[in-house]
Order: sequence, then C-alpha cells, then structure tokens
Amino acid sequence: MDLQTPIAKAGRWQQRNARQLEKLGIYQLADLLFHIPFRYEDYSLISKIAQIQPGEVVTVEGTVLEIENNYTKNGLKIQKATITDDTGAIDVTWFNQPYLTRVIKKGDVISLSGKVDYFGKYPQLQSPEYEIITDPNVRIHTGRLVPVYPETKGISSKWLRRQIYQLLSLEQTKALEYLSEELRARNNLLELFTSLQTIHFPKNLEQIEKAKARLAFDEVFLLQLKALKRRLEWKEQLQGISFGLEQHKGNIDQLTNSLPFTLTNAQQKAVEAIFTDLKSDKPMNRLLEGDVGSGKTIVATLAMYLVYLNKHQSVFMAPTEILAQQHHATISNLLSPLGVKVALVTGSKKLEKSTTGTTSITSATSKKSPRDTRGTFDTRGTFSYDVLIGTHAVLSEKINFERLGLVVIDEQQRFGVSQRAILRKKGKNPHLLTMTATPIPRTIALTLYGDLDLSVLDEMPKGRSIVKTWLVPKVKRTAAYQWIEKQLKETQSQAFILCPFIEESESMQTVKAATKEFERLKKDVFPNLRLGLLHGKMKSKQKDETLDKFRKGNYDILVCTPVVEVGIDIPNATIMLIEAAERFGLAQLHQLRGRVGRSHKQSYCLLFTESESELTKKRLKSLESYHVGLALAELDLQLRGPGEMYGTMQHGRNTLKIASFLDTALIQKARKEAKKVMQEFNKHEGIAKKLSEIADTDVSPD
Ligand code: ADP
Ligand code: MG
Repeated sequence: MDLQTPIAKAGRWQQRNARQLEKLGIYQLADLLFHIPFRYEDYSLISKIAQIQPGEVVTVEGTVLEIENNYTKNGLKIQKATITDDTGAIDVTWFNQPYLTRVIKKGDVISLSGKVDYFGKYPQLQSPEYEIITDPNVRIHTGRLVPVYPETKGISSKWLRRQIYQLLSLEQTKALEYLSEELRARNNLLELFTSLQTIHFPKNLEQIEKAKARLAFDEVFLLQLKALKRRLEWKEQLQGISFGLEQHKGNIDQLTNSLPFTLTNAQQKAVEAIFTDLKSDKPMNRLLEGDVGSGKTIVATLAMYLVYLNKHQSVFMAPTEILAQQHHATISNLLSPLGVKVALVTGSKKLEKSTTGTTSITSATSKKSPRDTRGTFDTRGTFSYDVLIGTHAVLSEKINFERLGLVVIDEQQRFGVSQRAILRKKGKNPHLLTMTATPIPRTIALTLYGDLDLSVLDEMPKGRSIVKTWLVPKVKRTAAYQWIEKQLKETQSQAFILCPFIEESESMQTVKAATKEFERLKKDVFPNLRLGLLHGKMKSKQKDETLDKFRKGNYDILVCTPVVEVGIDIPNATIMLIEAAERFGLAQLHQLRGRVGRSHKQSYCLLFTESESELTKKRLKSLESYHVGLALAELDLQLRGPGEMYGTMQHGRNTLKIASFLDTALIQKARKEAKKVMQEFNKHEGIAKKLSEIADTDVSPD
C-alpha cells in the first residue's frame, strides 16, 4: 500500500467509496491521514460492570452471553445483548441495526462504550459504540479518546477510523517528516508522524493542540511555498514582452485628460504599477482588487491602450454577457475615438473560421455568426480587433491573436485556472491582469495568491454617497413597499428587486420563483408602476432589450435574479431590495448594494430575510453601519468562516482544512519560513520532494 495511491485504485473498500470520499476532499490514501477529527468522544473511563454508575460515560469489556433481534409492536427492530465480566452482567440494546446479530456473536469478547442508563432498577447501555476485541492491545472505537470526523453519506467516523488506524501503522507514514529538526525547533513544531498519531488517536486532550498546530503550519507553509515557487518560476523562466512607455506618455495623458473625472490616487498608483510591469521583460501577473465602483475598468482600459500603442492586442474577459456588453460600450466609447478597434464576442462556438490574429465571420447576421459580435470587419469580411471584449466565448478555438500582449480578466473569481491558461496560450507569455471586487483580506491574499503582485484600489472616487441600508423586519414589508412606490415617484428614480438563487446557480427553479414574484409584485403590490423582469435564462437579445428599457426609464422596477450582481451600471436606480438576504455573504451583499448609489441622488438598500436566527440578523445588520467592502469581508470571515465565504471561489482542494485564515500569526510565521526555504531551495530536498508530491492546490492565475 502506497500513500500516494489514488482512492479509486486502492483496495476494494476504498474504491467503492471513492466518489463519496471526494466529497470530503479525499483523493488519495494520504488524504485520509489529513482528514482531521472535529471532536473526540471521551471513552477513556474503563470500568468493571459492577462498578458502573448511572449517567456516566464508560467503557466495559466482557463476553457476549447472548444477542438477538426483537420486534416491537410498531414494527421496530431492537437488538438485545447481555455481556458479562468477572464482576457482573449488563444488558445492552441497539435500535434498528438488525445486522448486529451477524457481526456480534455469542462468546465474542467485546468492548462497549456509551452512556449508562437505568432501565427500571437495572443499569443498561443503549446504543453504545462496540468493538470486538481480537488483539488485547488494540482499541480503535472504544476505551479511549475516540475521534469523530466530518462524515458524508456512506462514510461514517467508524469506517474512517479503521482506515486511518491502518495507515498509521505503515512505515511510509512513520517516515513522512520532511521538515528539518532545526526548522521544527525554531517554530516549536512536533514531528509529523507524532502529530498525525496524536490528532487521530490522542492519549489525552492536552496533546491535541500541539499536533494541530503542526498540521496547520504545514498546510499554510506548503500553500505559500507553492505560490512562491510559482512566482519565482514565472519571474525567472518566462520571457515577457517589454512595452515602451515614455514615447507614449503624450497619448496616455490625452486619454486621461479626456475622462470626465480625474483618477483617484489609488487608481494612479495601480496604473503606475501596471505600466512598470508592462515595461519589464517579465510577464506581469497582477491582481487588481477594488471595491465595487472603485473604478477598475478605467485602470484596465489605460493598460490596454498602452498595449495598443505598442502595436499589440488585448483581450478582456468578463463573466456575464450583460457585463461584457456594458464593458464594450464603455471601453469603445473611450478608445474608439483614438483609433483603437474594439470588438465584442459573446455566445460560444459560433465563429466560423480563423486565421491567426483575425477571425473570419461569414457575416454579422448569418446564422453561423456569434450571437453577438460587434467589431470591425475589413473588406474581405474579416473580423479584426485591437481590443477584444467578451464572455468565455473569447476562449473559443476560433479566436486567435497575431500579437496578444495583455490578458485582462474581470471578476477573476468567477473563472477557473484552466480558463486563464487557455487565454494565456493564445499569445506568447502575454501580460496578465486579473481583477476582483471580492475584497480578499490581506491574510488570505498572501496565503492563496502569494505568487501575484497585488494592487488595491482602497479609495472611492470623490462624491459617492453612502447607500443607506436597512434590515427590514418582517412586519414592515407592506410599509416598505409603500415607501418604495412613494420614493420612486418623488425622486423620479428606479429600483431593483432582487430574488434569490433557489439553488447554487441560476436553475430553472430560480427562474420560476423570480417569475412568480414578478407576477405577484405586478398584480398585487405595484399595479401602478411599470415592472420588468430579468433573469439568466432569458435569450441575450431579450436581456439586452429589458436592460435597455430599464436604462431608458421605461420600467420603474426591475425584478431580477442575482445576474445583476456584477457590473451593471444604471445611475438612475436608487433602491435595491434584496430578498432572502441571508443566503449571501456580506461581501456579496455589498456588491449587490453597489448597483445603486451611482449618482448624486441618495440611494437605499433594503434587506429582507425570513430567518429568525439572531446571528443572521446581526450579520445582516452590520451592513447598516459598514460601507467598506474589505471591512465587511473581514467581518464575514469572523462570523461565517472562510469556507462559507469563499465557498464558491475555491473548489474542492483549495480550502484550508486545519489552519484558519484568521490566524495571522501562523500565516506570517509560515510565510517567513517559506521565504527562507525558497532562497536556498536546492538544499531542502525533503521539502522539494514533498512539494512535487502534493496535489495541485493552485487557485491563483498562472
Ligand atoms: P468597478 O471597480 O466596480 O469595476 P467601474 O470601473 O465600473 O467600477 O467604475 C464605476 C463607475 O465609476 C464608472 O461609471 C466609472 O466611470 C466611474 N469612475 C471610475 N473612476 C472614477 C474616478 N476617479 N472619479 C469618478 N468616477 C470614476
Ligand atoms: Mg467592474
């Protein structure tokens, strides 16, 4: 048995459960060792049968005198057994586990752990944990501190315990240590095997914390080491395109001066950092993080313009069609007058033919053309562009570039590593700029994205007012509707009413629910107003039309699903009503709230929830007083934990299982060591080997 064996190729029992185990993040045998108990049952009190006391949790050991299935009047199956030791006998019952009579036989020596109850005058054990003793020195499920694991259907703690117990006896497991004694001593860390042994089968509770600390260190250390290594490889091995800067300063200034606003200091700093990267002969790999409305688009636009001035192309990918269209409108407004050909592609696999750098499309109206391709066609009908904006459609094989210089990915958390890789391969080490409004607390950014350079827009453009936010109590729903109607009429403005996703993503069920809510609002609540409906399952043309009507003021209220979450920019909308607000993270709610407050008019956000949980209400209420995305993200991190918060951002293997993102001290300690190791990587054979073994936990763009 080898620890690196994938579960699907391991023994019969593991194979059978491979799919379920994946749900627990267990892909190979070694992962079982790192499946950490979340609590322990204390079965360490071993007692003679005659001495047991009612109410106490004990372990008794004895011989099975008898065991049988009984049936109750209402059809329940009860398993009854009697166990004796040299001091007495005790009755044991289990419920609805008829197979037990096949597992436990008369005459077996058995160990039982559980709580002692009284049945009439006699003590009894009900549904105790049991273990047939074959080796007098081995207790896995009873008679000790017994680990309880995160479980899933078909995978019980008992099953996991036995697997892990076996793995712990392997020589390979005993030799897992890869950190030097020196490093361990410096950081006060236990030896690895000792830690694993302790975390699964501790002798006492005091030991557990130290074992956990060691495993947490490893988790963060390896994550950071990987990121640093990637960063080094990126910087040392890749040859990038160096773009001229000084000779284009005049043109760049011309663009900045044509803007109806001046850049914030934060934007200026980000632009400078990006320009410096673009000038260098190493490909840029930068994350631009900025709250909703902090003005990331213009920063990217300036970068794309510089690339254009250097006679190269840029591609800009956004997660939704609506957003891609909006970006296309904004960016072509800015760049087209300067001679830049800005094109749009949405919808997939509809491009006809391609040559390098240009894409032929039969005609913009032909059936085979992309759903939406706005751009420039030359006389031969060839579609060409300096800047290509689009959805994931830009990933299509048919889209090619002659001289791709820059890849921009908006709302990068919506895309996977592989999609970024596809785009990058369309050029020769193009520069990469990823953008996100998900405010990632610095500790997380350092851990997960240690290989990226980070620019943060931590300053909002001047003149933005705060969106007044209320968590609306249930009883005030009707009043809130009346207030909305009055408000819209008085201020000549518009509102969003946001229905929740019923399932994780925009399923038909979600669409149905939104449609129903739309009908209800139209008929019963706002018969005097004009309502529109927008959801992700609508045809793009229909979406366009609806949004356009809303933008032109032909609707007072837009009822929608969270498709509006990212990007939409309709300044005349001043009210955002969010149903089932508890389903969203604070940062996400803040994003949604960012759809309003985009003009000088006072804007409002109304949060509705059916939840009675005090914690939920407290969480939602924090939006009333917090108005900075990063602060909200950090709060969410404390209240809900990173798993929840970044649930959609990180799939499968990418979450921390043992360590916490809140543990800044640990993260810094691990980072310091990771940097040290990286400086003389070749000297650390053990670590290098370990790094090459671990599954790719990559979440950052490369
Ligand atoms: P986000 O960072 O959320 O992508 P956008 O780039 O969409 O934000 O910008 C939001 C709005 O703010 C846009 O209408 C944009 O024109 C405007 N904007 C950007 N920078 C500034 C600035 N420095 N001053 C005023 N308005 C700005
Ligand atoms: Mg944006």
